[in-house]
Amino acid sequence: MPQPYPYPQNNPFTVINGVRVFSGFPYLLTFVVKSFYHIILLPKTWSLETMLDMAELQARRNRLDTWFVFSPDNILKFPAYEPAELVPAPPAWSILLADRLRPAREIPEDEDLKQRKAQANEIIESIKKRGGYVFGDLMKGGRRPTEREIRELTGFQPNGVHKGLEKCPKCGYYRGECIDDNPAHRGLLMKVYCPCENDNLCARCCQPLDEYKLNANFYSIEDKRIWHVPGFCGFDHKCPDLKEK
Ligand SMILES: [Zn+2]
Ligand SMILES: [Zn+2]
Ligand SMILES: [Zn+2]
Ligand SMILES: [Zn+2]
Repeated sequence: MPQPYPYPQNNPFTVINGVRVFSGFPYLLTFVVKSFYHIILLPKTWSLETMLDMAELQARRNRLDTWFVFSPDNILKFPAYEPAELVPAPPAWSILLADRLRPAREIPEDEDLKQRKAQANEIIESIKKRGGYVFGDLMKGGRRPTEREIRELTGFQPNGVHKGLEKCPKCGYYRGECIDDNPAHRGLLMKVYCPCENDNLCARCCQPLDEYKLNANFYSIEDKRIWHVPGFCGFDHKCPDLKEK
């Protein structure tokens, strides 16, 4: 069994295959939006099995790409919808946040974890001071349509809804694929999800992180527009049992 990497006291960063990363292993990284990740530190007292179990749970419930960074040589990626795979390096981030996505299991904070957390928080604070902008996916996950899609999907249905979308019999929202006529993404083929298809759950309470699927689009019936929901919308979630009364 591989051993956790010894934590370097002074340097909170190390480089893994060309990627500068936080050196306070072991931890989970969750994709939020492009170059923006969420970090959950794991206790070194946990067995490798417990950590793997936690990583799997976190990824399956959040349905966001998740990396288990155990040591510089042991990094597992849990894609949102595919089986886990060993990867040479964790993703590079320019923005990091903690304590926004709840962990699937309660994490005991021992001395070692507190120390690593303090270092992570220093990094997070310095990012906040530096400022900067967070963009969602400016193309909203859209792609150029094929000739056939342009022929079939350009225009609107008699009720004014974009061609290609169907009303979900369960929730009444529209879903499917349509061509965006909004000037910013004119002509891109967009996938639109209804709330029933929202599978981004809080890893702790298993309730949806947001009303709509994250890093995805929904269709607003009122203004007949396609709206994009960036991953950080999931940060507003509060577990029902933890809400202040
Ligand atoms: Zn648009
Ligand atoms: Zn639905
Ligand atoms: Zn939201
Ligand atoms: Zn929750």
